Amino acid sequence: MNSQIEAWEEYGLTRVPVSMAPPLRYVNSYVLRGEEGITIIDPGPHTAATEAEWREFMRELKLDPKDVSSIIITHHHPDHYGLAGYLQQWSGAPVYMSHRAHEETLRMWGAASTMNEDLLKLYREHGMPADWTAQLPAHMESFMPQVNPTAEVSYIHEGDQIRMGGQSWRAIETAGHAPGHLSFYDERRGLMLCGDAVLPQISPNVSLMPGSDPQPLESFMNSLRRLEQYEVALAFPGHRRPFSHFAERISMLLKHHEERLEVIAAMLAKQPLSGFAVCTGLFGTGLGIHQMRFAMSEALAHLVELERRGYAVQIPAEGETALFVQK
Ligand SMILES: [Zn+2]
Ligand SMILES: [Zn+2]
Repeated sequence: MNSQIEAWEEYGLTRVPVSMAPPLRYVNSYVLRGEEGITIIDPGPHTAATEAEWREFMRELKLDPKDVSSIIITHHHPDHYGLAGYLQQWSGAPVYMSHRAHEETLRMWGAASTMNEDLLKLYREHGMPADWTAQLPAHMESFMPQVNPTAEVSYIHEGDQIRMGGQSWRAIETAGHAPGHLSFYDERRGLMLCGDAVLPQISPNVSLMPGSDPQPLESFMNSLRRLEQYEVALAFPGHRRPFSHFAERISMLLKHHEERLEVIAAMLAKQPLSGFAVCTGLFGTGLGIHQMRFAMSEALAHLVELERRGYAVQIPAEGETALFVQK
């Protein structure tokens, strides 16, 4: 049933699962109908398959693309933002996201992007061997078709009240999983559209990326503590099914990251380690390049958090591998 359209008629909201690469398999797009028109949240990655899926969804939901009044993006990742430009050209609707998230699309895929070289340099500095780094350029390039054409973007700001599905939703900036990530809260009904800020079953990836948020884990945990303040009856996430144990899930995620920080601190107590050594110590080496990139950037996110908290210090060695040492 997971890959079926699922209507929450009492909320004017429909969950539309759009296919994407494994292991996630699909991303949740949400279609909200109200007097303001049709809002589509996070249309998915752009592939031939998702184009065909959206044609089918439009038929099934009896939607005319011209009735789409806005396309709203929670964050810049290809599985959420990717199809925005295509859907904009098809429907003529404006695409909204945060200014910071838009900056990230340019950092990742803009004409002046140096992300691919910078990421290679960062991973090399932190000890990733050549057999892995050699796979990075082609891997990073493979996302380009998923995010084209580029959307023309208008901005939503923290605290804005957005009309969707005939109700008012508050935009809340929830960075950490992605800079400028937005969640949307309907206070009257206790509904939270939380993108990838909080997911059931999956621990959202928290990645250190060059030139981006220098303390992503701190941002992520601060966002979780902010979200914990809201009364949430039902949360609509970017992946998997809607869930009601929002506060409980947030506590679990906070606990998970505290425990992982302790595990890494214990690793460093034994010996100085490179970022890559910590990464493979945590996640092993039996990963594809996609999972390895998440694992490596997640290990680095934890290491810079330990550094920020004063438990570790980084010894950058000119032309050699940087090491993290217990402080
Ligand atoms: Zn994401
Ligand atoms: Zn996602």
